[in-house]
Amino acid sequence: MKIGIFGGTFDPIHVGHTRVAQEFADAFGLDRVLMMVAANPPHREPPVASPRDRLKMVELAVGQFPALEASSLELDREGPSYTLDTVKEVRRTAGGGLIWMALGGDAFALITSWYHPEEVLACTHVVVLTRPGYAVDLMAPLPAGAAARYTRDGEIYFHESGATLRTLQVSPVDVSSSMIREAVLRGENIQDLVSEEVFQYIQRMGLYRHQPGTREE
Ligand code: ATP
Repeated sequence: MKIGIFGGTFDPIHVGHTRVAQEFADAFGLDRVLMMVAANPPHREPPVASPRDRLKMVELAVGQFPALEASSLELDREGPSYTLDTVKEVRRTAGGGLIWMALGGDAFALITSWYHPEEVLACTHVVVLTRPGYAVDLMAPLPAGAAARYTRDGEIYFHESGATLRTLQVSPVDVSSSMIREAVLRGENIQDLVSEEVFQYIQRMGLYRHQPGTREE
């Protein structure tokens, strides 16, 4: 079973996320991509919607994508959530083989701030998502000494463990979660940016209608 992980805050999940996750699955013949809902993402503001709401929206959004599955693995864990723990746990449930992980170039650029990044690189195929026209130097963000563990074959870097590191060019979709939150705040229509089910959920629960930190009278 070939399993991939696509992590995000998903605050909320949008059509860009599902499109890219499906392209990730198609590109590498993955049987399943786990949409890993981040508990308390480091390096950024806390999410606006609760973990429960974000997970629910991911569940609703993946309903039409048989290869995509919502995962609460990081939400269910006590304490800080490290990518390495997630990768190891998914790997165990997948029967022990190498798993695949997709992440944006922005997240990859911060790899030295991860917990034991070298171990992550050694036990996962890492796929850095890029947009057309953006060149990414995959060796540049690596921790000191890590580049020496790779040999390059064309566009693919092979770690001495057998894990690979490469980019995947995905279709640009002009949408972000922050764009959606701001649109809801302004009372604009977001129906083209999220699935119908997610749209209904945001409406029903009244999500994103108020500035974070303020309350309805
Ligand atoms: P925000 O606007 O709040 O920063 P976001 O839309 O980037 O949120 P995240 O949950 O942080 O959403 O994204 C998870 C992953 O999806 C990241 O790796 C990010 O690079 C990628 N991603 C987000 N939006 C798109 C998009 N429109 N096209 C391709 N990838 C995307």
